[in-house]
Parts: sequence; C-alpha cells; structure tokens
Amino acid sequence: MINMKNIKEYNLEDLKEELISLGEKKYRAEQIFKWLYVDKVKEFDEMTNLSLELREKLKKEYTMCNFKILKKQESADGTKKYLFDVLDGNAIETVLMQYHHGKTICVSSQIGCKMGCKFCASTGIQFVRSLTSGEIVEQILAVEQDIGDKISNIVFMGIGEPFDNYDNVMQAIKIINNQKGLNIGARHISISTSGLVPMIYKFADEELQCTLSISLHATTDEKRSSMMPINNRYNIKELMESCKYYISKTNKRISFEYALAKDNNDNLDDAKQLVKLLKGMLCHVNLIPINKIENGKYTKSSNENIIRFRDYLNENGIVATIRRELGSDIDAACGQLRRKNLNKK
Ligand code: SAH
Repeated sequence: MINMKNIKEYNLEDLKEELISLGEKKYRAEQIFKWLYVDKVKEFDEMTNLSLELREKLKKEYTMCNFKILKKQESADGTKKYLFDVLDGNAIETVLMQYHHGKTICVSSQIGCKMGCKFCASTGIQFVRSLTSGEIVEQILAVEQDIGDKISNIVFMGIGEPFDNYDNVMQAIKIINNQKGLNIGARHISISTSGLVPMIYKFADEELQCTLSISLHATTDEKRSSMMPINNRYNIKELMESCKYYISKTNKRISFEYALAKDNNDNLDDAKQLVKLLKGMLCHVNLIPINKIENGKYTKSSNENIIRFRDYLNENGIVATIRRELGSDIDAACGQLRRKNLNKK
C-alpha cells in the first residue's frame, strides 16, 4: 500500500500520460475518470469497460484511496460533520452544509495547521502533514457517495492553510473542476487564506475563476498580530498590496472574513478603520460571529454589535453580510474543527 500511487492524484491530462506510459491508449484515462468521478465506483474491478489485464495492472500499482467514515455527526440544521480515516493512521474532518442554493462541502487541506491563529480550534494541535491532492478530492467523493447526491460548492475552509499546501490544492482544483469528472465550476470553489502574501500573488497569476477569501479579522498590525501570528511575517500593508494585485489581475471581488470578538475588534472605531482600509476595493466583507473555543479568550460579540458593525459598513460603501452559523451544535461551525481523537497510531 505504502508505495502505491493514488489514482485520485491525477488530473485528466496527467492520467492520459500515465496510461500512455503503461502502454495503453489515452482514451482509457477518460473512461477511468468517468468511473471515478461520475459513477463513483470504489473498486477497479467495477470498471467493466477496461480489459481484465488493465484492471489487474491498475490494482497492482494504484490505490483508490477510499476513505472510511470513522464518525458522522448530524446537526439539527442538517449540517453533517465527517471524521475520515485517511488510511495512514491519521484522520481529518470534512463538513457538509445544506443551503437553499445547494450543498457545500468545507474541505480540510492539511492534517493540523501551522498558522496558530489564537481564536481557531486547530491551534495547539500538532501539525502532521499536508494532504495530497487525491486526499482533498476524496473528501468530496466520500461525502457524495455517502449522501447519494451532488455537491454544488466547495470551500477550502476546513483544517489547514490551503496556501501552505499550494500545489496540491491547485491540483485538486483541476480534478474537481474537470467537466468530465466532478464538474464543479471554479466559480463554485472558494479558497480562504490567513494571508500568505507570496501565494496570493501566485494565485492571482493563475487567473482562475475561484473566489479568494482573506481572513483579515483586524485593521491594525498590533491587533492582527495578537490574533494571527502570520501578521508578523506579512503585515496588513503587504497583505493589502497583494489583494490589490489580485483584483487588478483577475477583476474578481475578494471576500474579507472578519470574525467579531467581543471588546476586541467589534466597536465602531474598528468598523471605521475597516472602511478606510477597504474603501474603493472590489470586495465584500463576511462578518463571522466568533465561535468561542475551549480555553479561548475571545467570545462572541452581541447581536446588537454585530448588526451595528454590519450596518456601519453598508452605510459607508462596503458591502457586508453576516455569515449564518451552521452546525454549531456539533462543533462544525467556523473554526471549530479540531483533530479530536484523530491519531489512531
Ligand atoms: N487557514 C485558512 C482557512 C481555514 S479557517 C484561513 O485562515 O483562512 C476558515 C475561516 O474560519 C477563516 O476565516 C478563519 O479565520 C475562521 N475562523 C477560525 N476560527 C474561528 C472561530 N473560532 N470563529 C469564527 N471564525 C473562525
């Protein structure tokens, strides 16, 4: 198993090359892609239009990386949280959210996270490794298989920093995006970053149609650094410059996430500063009532403050909405995912 290649790490073009290197015709790649992502089979033996010989070859050299569901929790609002066995002794969390406009999956990009944001439940748990592209894709497949339905949107907002696993995340997007596979359009994929500035420039140059979300959460370096250590590496000025570059390159709106914590970043002065910072930018602000984590110092702002904050932004030319919290009763809301009992080794 250890030395086998994961068939779900290949985008369609790579799979064609791979099949050619196995002495096969490249149209076989499209057949395999369809079995994997349209028919969603779990065994090579189910790929009945491939020769027996090819199936045997595939079985010997490749794994299908079928995750096992270790645990599934369902919230009163229909949100489902999955704990998947990633087959090497580790486990990851994936969340399914049901909105009126369709089903959204919040995927993890790493096992653990190195960013250390003070308000996030992933902090304080050891970083293990980044997920492979196949493991990112498999989260979507495994949920679709479980619910017997199609997913319409993907958000990279689970555990991990997607831009700290840049290449695998980009490869996963190519696979997810392919019309002959899962066929989830780039416009339906959002990537959220804590602000790895060099990667924001790189992502801008990809000119993808995905939505970019920036976890901003504060408007001064002092406050942002106290909440997010990454700000010591790339400060707000550098972050904003990279965002402006992204907008000029892609002509796409950025979504700034701002988690409101009581008496920390939720008063009108903060709102004023935010207007100053974002004035004239093609953007949207997503206000998240902060979820208190175990032993965390930040607590949720009052509804009154959250609404006052939103209204101030809207009245001053910044489009802002309050994110509806889903799955909080099963620890599946924003920033609540953590690797509980995740190491089986
Ligand atoms: N590492 C990426 C993506 C994962 S977090 C990032 O930082 O953007 C997804 C979103 O949830 C981020 O905006 C993050 O700041 C926010 N978040 C984390 N913990 C939270 C909490 N306790 N309450 C509310 N939002 C939180």
